Amino acid sequence: MGVIGKLLVANRGEIAVRIARACREMRIESVLASSEADDTRYVRRFFDGAVPIRSYLDVGAVMDAARAAGADAIHPGYGFLSERSQLAAACETSGITFVGPKASSIEAMGSKAGARRLMQSLGVPVVPGYDGEDQSDAIMKTEAKKIGFPVLVKASAGGGGKGMKIVRSDAELQPALESARREAQKAFGNDRLLLERYIEEPRHVEVQVFGDSRGEVIHLFERDCSVQRRHQKVVEESPAPHYPEELRRQMTAAAVAAARGVQYENAGTVEFIVTPDGEFYFLEMNTRLQVEHPVTELVTDVDLVRAQIDVASGRPLPWKEVRQRGHAVEVRIYAEDPDDRFLPQSGRIALLREPSGPGVRVDSGVMEGTEIGVSFDPMLAKLICYADDRGAAIDRVDRALREYIVLGLKTNTSWLRRVVTHPAFREGKVSTRFLIDHEEDLRRDVPEMIPLIAAALASVPQKPAARAAGGTQLPSVWDSVGPWGR
Ligand code: ADP
Repeated sequence: MGVIGKLLVANRGEIAVRIARACREMRIESVLASSEADDTRYVRRFFDGAVPIRSYLDVGAVMDAARAAGADAIHPGYGFLSERSQLAAACETSGITFVGPKASSIEAMGSKAGARRLMQSLGVPVVPGYDGEDQSDAIMKTEAKKIGFPVLVKASAGGGGKGMKIVRSDAELQPALESARREAQKAFGNDRLLLERYIEEPRHVEVQVFGDSRGEVIHLFERDCSVQRRHQKVVEESPAPHYPEELRRQMTAAAVAAARGVQYENAGTVEFIVTPDGEFYFLEMNTRLQVEHPVTELVTDVDLVRAQIDVASGRPLPWKEVRQRGHAVEVRIYAEDPDDRFLPQSGRIALLREPSGPGVRVDSGVMEGTEIGVSFDPMLAKLICYADDRGAAIDRVDRALREYIVLGLKTNTSWLRRVVTHPAFREGKVSTRFLIDHEEDLRRDVPEMIPLIAAALASVPQKPAARAAGGTQLPSVWDSVGPWGR
């Protein structure tokens, strides 16, 4: 803790850019921990320097990079690293400021089973389930029957939906336990499981919380992240649509109680699952900044990364009271093929036109020429739109997606347009089943690349020779865009 002069950012892509931007505005020197496997040409432009890093997942490698950079603070971004209590602990003992919560808070929330028990002791409701130490199949079987099918098997150390299995009958339990244990051991090095009642057609609503070193904890309202594919968020918004004020009040109070219970400092998110009857249960607390933080920034008019750095430096929370106004919607732009099982795409971005205009924010990690490899998650950018009300915010997302041009590899932009303009989404009828229930409607029926290519072509200066030839000759840029050129 103390004034930060030089900050190492141990993450990549759009989040690294986001943090570097806050540093520039705060006149803090920023250094990127840069991996060889990543094309960092775009991201580096936002930084004052860069040091190589062996792996973002290796705490020792991050500490070495911080020392090599001469940094007095580390921001872990929001990858797996940000939830490793070992990194926070290593910072605490070496006198480097960790921009995040204390190691003890990360640890307390690190196991889903442990966090559930802690929440119960604080009076925060948890999904009916089993989080005991006894992991024998016999106990799991008895407990699953007690909970009643369908049951959800979860990895206690889990994240990103890994190790999660829905079990609809007694007979399915044994194989689900085995495969969940295998997955959990492989992904997290820990095979402890827990059981929860599987809630049908729930909503995922989470609360942004923030604490400082003086023990002050506040909330910055909720985000609805119900539209998910395989338990991964696709669309996020704030406020949650059709959300009764009383429910919002109870849930934000429960979130603040949860954060206070672990003496929480810095930015965190308390995630809840909400039943169709409006009952809510604690799911987990993410002890870091989240991908979807911009929707909160837009509806509350705050800078969460700046506040993270302030609080880590020992300063009090920068706000006394935060108000929520208007509506913000975020969609995640991925290099993936929605028409072919959402397979991640790799290749070079040949042409890029990001949208802009009123109420449009793009948090991007790429530029024209960026190579998208296979080593990392293929998220290119996030598009976040703000307007006075939800309908106008959705129209803005649709308008901005129409302007979004990425050539050279396939992206999900057209599919996202179909998601946000779907009548059920417009009406705010969202649940975690949304993309399954409307899968057919969201399939592509017309080749939408044609108007996009026409728009891109119109923005490319044409060679006089091409015009003279009556447009039959393509301008030279089209030679470089691979299949789209043809
Ligand atoms: P992870 O840490 O792997 O992301 P979470 O516990 O945060 O796991 O849950 C991720 C998503 O899985 C939730 O947003 C929700 O869609 C679904 N989910 C989790 N628990 C339940 C449950 N008990 N019933 C139904 N769906 C659930």
